[in-house]
Amino acid sequence: MVSGFVGLTALVTGGASGIGAAVVARLREEGARVAVFDINPEGVRADLALAVDISDDDAVRAGMLRVAEMFGGLDILVNNAGVGARGDISANDDAEWARVLDINVVGIARVTRSALPYLHASHFASVVNVASIAATAGLPQRALYSASKGAVLGLSRAMAADYVRLGIRINAVAPGTADTPWVGRLLSEADDPIVERSALESRQPHGRLVTAEEIADAVAYLAGPRASSTTGITLAVDGGMAELRLAAV
Ligand code: NAD
Repeated sequence: MVSGFVGLTALVTGGASGIGAAVVARLREEGARVAVFDINPEGVRADLALAVDISDDDAVRAGMLRVAEMFGGLDILVNNAGVGARGDISANDDAEWARVLDINVVGIARVTRSALPYLHASHFASVVNVASIAATAGLPQRALYSASKGAVLGLSRAMAADYVRLGIRINAVAPGTADTPWVGRLLSEADDPIVERSALESRQPHGRLVTAEEIADAVAYLAGPRASSTTGITLAVDGGMAELRLAAV
């Protein structure tokens, strides 16, 4: 399938695995040239794969220069890279709070500010930030992760307001629990009673995990020309978990 992404260039952070890899595949199918920043870019199927840790500002700047040199600019940025954290507020020390917030929240600001000159110069500029159902659902034993994803939603709206007049659209997706290597790792950690596959499936009203491809479809919609008047929104991809209150009838 080739559609409205022909001639556009994209950068996907965390594009080596799971949701990011599905986004890379989808944007390339639709005609975009796609670069990836990932701490572990082995085996990435992209036009340019760079070993960049989004918590390292020098590496981000150098990587962005490489992308711009190779593609002649940048039109679309997907801030997808993120890390998890378990437990209540006491489970992680200050260093771990700083590390997770630095990747999940500051990482988005860091990569986006490096991309801004190129996005500003693009005739079609958009950013999609990957948040999570954890931003709003009040999930138990996910305090730090939920705080970080809540911040992603606030940051996305603030960025959308700051750059709308520059022609840069900024939106967020909020996935429910998705079938990715991340969740595979969680499911293999038998010491966490919250994490059982059947429990994760049944807490989503449509009764299953979300697929990485479904999230990639939402990202591609928001990133692409079909959403050209949409900015500042959060699109839930969670089988109804955020919006539906199912009562027994
Ligand atoms: P994943 O672990 O399969 O992939 C994450 C990728 O990000 C990996 O390739 C990893 O190497 C990369 N990465 C991690 N830290 C990085 C850093 N500092 N710099 C650069 N790259 C880094 O995870 P996933 O499930 O595909 O999750 C992707 C995003 O989706 C994350 O932001 C996550 O919070 C979010 N999300 C996931 C789920 C889910 O259930 N899987 C649900 C909601 C939101």
